[in-house]
Amino acid sequence: MKITDVKAVYPAWKRKGTGAWQEYFWQIVVRIETDAGVVGYGYGGGGEPGKLIVNGHLRDALVGRTIGHVDDIRDTWDHLYFKSLPYGRNGIVIMALSGIDLALWDLLGKAEGKPVYELIGGLKKETVRAYATGGDPVRVRDRGYTAVKCSHQWRTDADYEKAAALAARIRGIFGRDALLMFDCYMSWDAEVALRMRELLGEYEPYWFEDLITPDHLDELAGLRPRLAPVLLAGGEHDFSHHAFGAIARAGALDLWQPDITWCGGITAGLRILELARSHDIPVCPHRGGEIWGLHLVAATDCLDLAETHPDRWNDPEDTILLDEPVVSGGVIAPPDRPGFGVALKPEYA
Ligand SMILES: [Mg+2]
Repeated sequence: MKITDVKAVYPAWKRKGTGAWQEYFWQIVVRIETDAGVVGYGYGGGGEPGKLIVNGHLRDALVGRTIGHVDDIRDTWDHLYFKSLPYGRNGIVIMALSGIDLALWDLLGKAEGKPVYELIGGLKKETVRAYATGGDPVRVRDRGYTAVKCSHQWRTDADYEKAAALAARIRGIFGRDALLMFDCYMSWDAEVALRMRELLGEYEPYWFEDLITPDHLDELAGLRPRLAPVLLAGGEHDFSHHAFGAIARAGALDLWQPDITWCGGITAGLRILELARSHDIPVCPHRGGEIWGLHLVAATDCLDLAETHPDRWNDPEDTILLDEPVVSGGVIAPPDRPGFGVALKPEYA
């Protein structure tokens, strides 16, 4: 089938007034039409600039291309990467390209009547263990979760005690067997990390995420052995297999977390996984419980662990999918329907 039209839209996400980047350049929806009448939808990043990159440039490089096989998607990714290379390679351009890539996987799945996980090689996990980022811990436990991630921003010395109190509270609610992770969103440094490792050791954290900025690969590599057995996790701010290649060469991280809607879609996710395999690094995609990452997690040797945000399900106004799978009994599974198997609200479809 030939691509006849491509259009990105930027949904009217609710702004909460925090000033965070997500309120300015959040997810876009990419719609790809074909001469076979099949329409694919993908989810990318980059807000209005992401939308402009798709509609103002990459669309012209897509119309007329033929998509009939997984290899055509990979070739299209390379074509778009090359077309946008002088101003791209990273950031918003690859976030926008992610939306196109995912729309192509959705398209091919629908054309063949197969879920995306079938196109990747079939289910390797019937269900995936979910972990909760945010949400009231008691309610999260009552929904069956056995893994939880705490957000922790370090500002002053008082935050050491706050982190220890939080870890104690989570262990009290979830017990010893649950997985407990910390996401520091680049607010720690080496000194803070080592002190936290000491303070939190008795609560057995599984990983520390996004410790310092992703540009400090050598510093991260130096910290890894000193934080063991706590894993050093990261990668949500890195783009394509090129960035993960640099992470691998530096030995910067114990566990990789590409975001499938930002790093270049499923195509980039598969390449990153291949690289991870050759370095014996586990992969646990950022927001892997959202439909775009979930198909990849379920169909590959990604860790049996998927990130979900229970708080976000409480806000039906701020969602654009009508039938995204939810966590039940602590696990989640992709739907057995063609493509990604989700429908968009009519205003975005
Ligand atoms: Mg994070």
